[in-house]
Amino acid sequence: MRRRGRSVRAGFGVKRYRRLADGAGEGSRAVSGNARPTIRNASRVLKRVILSIVRAPARSLSSKIVSFVFLTALVASLAVTWVSAQSIRTFLREKTDQRIPIVLGSVNEHLQLWYDQRELDVRTFASSSILRTNVDQAAGRERSFVEAEQFLTYVLKRFDQYRTLFVLDADSTEPLVWAGEELDLPDTVRSELRSIVDAQISAAFGLNGVRYQVVSAPIVDDSNRQLASLNSVIDLAVARAELRHDGLSRRGALYAVSDEGIVLMQTGSARSRASYSRPAPLRGTLPAVEVYELADGQSVIGSSVRFDRFNWTIAVEEPAAQLFGPAVEIVRKVVVVNVGIVLLCSAIAFQITRSVVRPIQGLSEAAVRVADGEPDVVFPENGNDEIGVLGRAFNEMIEHLGRNQIELENNRVQIEEANQKLVSRNQELQRINEVFHQLSITDELTKLHNHRFFQDHLPREMSRATRTGEPLCLILIDIDDFKRLNDEHGHSVGDAVLKKTADVMNGVVREMDLLARYGGEEFALLASQATLDGATALAEKLRMAVSQARFPVVTLEGISELSITVSIGVAAFDGDQKALFNDADRALYRAKDQGKDCVVAEAPRNAGLS
Ligand code: GH3
Ligand code: MG
Ligand code: MG
Repeated sequence: MRRRGRSVRAGFGVKRYRRLADGAGEGSRAVSGNARPTIRNASRVLKRVILSIVRAPARSLSSKIVSFVFLTALVASLAVTWVSAQSIRTFLREKTDQRIPIVLGSVNEHLQLWYDQRELDVRTFASSSILRTNVDQAAGRERSFVEAEQFLTYVLKRFDQYRTLFVLDADSTEPLVWAGEELDLPDTVRSELRSIVDAQISAAFGLNGVRYQVVSAPIVDDSNRQLASLNSVIDLAVARAELRHDGLSRRGALYAVSDEGIVLMQTGSARSRASYSRPAPLRGTLPAVEVYELADGQSVIGSSVRFDRFNWTIAVEEPAAQLFGPAVEIVRKVVVVNVGIVLLCSAIAFQITRSVVRPIQGLSEAAVRVADGEPDVVFPENGNDEIGVLGRAFNEMIEHLGRNQIELENNRVQIEEANQKLVSRNQELQRINEVFHQLSITDELTKLHNHRFFQDHLPREMSRATRTGEPLCLILIDIDDFKRLNDEHGHSVGDAVLKKTADVMNGVVREMDLLARYGGEEFALLASQATLDGATALAEKLRMAVSQARFPVVTLEGISELSITVSIGVAAFDGDQKALFNDADRALYRAKDQGKDCVVAEAPRNAGLS
């Protein structure tokens, strides 16, 4: 019968990898820096996690599985993060490599057009009939300059790109007419301006901390004779407004740089810089986009192109960190998602292993209790999965075990009973054997040892005598005229006489001697440690005892008493069994021959034996 047993709860330990969380946090922070520290930090985190897992006591199956899943998910997520970061970085770099030359080309073109427009402006102003007429008529006439000045002032108001307009006579470096702020232009600039033949724009020059350029156009009469030049001064701060492009990133900067490396213009958002140290690009070369570090250590991605009009270089620079900002942002999100996936996978693995390991642990504890001899262990059967099947098989096995134990106990009792019977039978058999043995070595009539026992015993005694050197004698006793006794009184009387004769002699012999019925009415006595004389004396005692004994006999006349005599031959052992018997036999024969009822000792043949 099955009954519900107490369920065994597995002690399911969870290793929480706090270090991992710390490490992952560091990794995330590093990602926000740049890609190289990210990889370094990621490898440091991975190393820490591996070490913490390797050093963690992997006692249970569940901790091993959870660790494995955690590591696998972590490695996979790190690989995905790394691949994502690399791909995005490559993508952004390719995009930048395409975008920056486009920006440079566009800026270059725009600036070119802007300066073309300025030349066109000044050329148009210079061709004005007011200006031409007044300059031509100007020689010595005050009024004409006033008109020219009014004209130039009017133009200046309409075109705010220009700071100052002035007319320069071909013969003098002093302006004939000024409109706007009067600037003390360097003589070098003035002398260059006097000899222009066509519209032109001067090189940039500095004056009181401000950079200027002068756009000039000749003023000619109808016959194309040069009368003077019209010059308009541009503050480069105005031109700087043209140095812009929508394709530039928020913190990107454009610079116009002279051949001497002096920054002439820069976009408004750019950090103020006086010089640009990278070599000027060769004329006609395509701009190459490179990542490099500035003097202050900032990493930028930049390129430059030649602005042929003034031998300038148009340069563009964007902070690398900002450029790769989107990549960092994406990687940060990927890391967050991956950490979530790793934790989710670990949690799922934890739940699965717990649901598997807990019943297994219960099963193993139940098995231990069974092994300890607890009889009524029942494993709770839950579900139809492999564990459920295992639990049912376990319970059936315990049931079988219980039944077998009872059967075994019954068998043991039966075997014990059978064993008891066997032991008692064996003991009985031993007793019977003993009786049989005794019977086999005992003469039935006289209860003395029989001839066979005597023969078996004799060699041992002779060996002992030979070994120890102690004397040994054989005494043969034969009842005299026993045939006649039988004949006269019957065989039963003969038997009784034989029996009593044995008793009489048995009362005489020593403990150590062996008296046996040797056959018929003959007896043999093996006298240990007895010399021939001693044995002869013993034989004499026997003879006397027998002859003095009385044997009651019931006759027709009543009870009468018989007496008998014996003849005895004595011989000493000299190492030869056959000789011993022959000697004793011979002595007995001689005793008979000498008239019976006497003892004859065979003289020793060996002087060494007494
Ligand atoms: P001797 O003095 O020369 O020894 O003559 P004896 O008659 O004693 O010797 P013999 O050998 O002629 O006869 C021995 C007899 O002993 C013959 C036999 O009937 C008798 N006898 C032998 N065994 C038994 C026995 O167990 N019971 C009886 N009643 N008689 C026995
Ligand atoms: Mg005889
Ligand atoms: Mg006899």
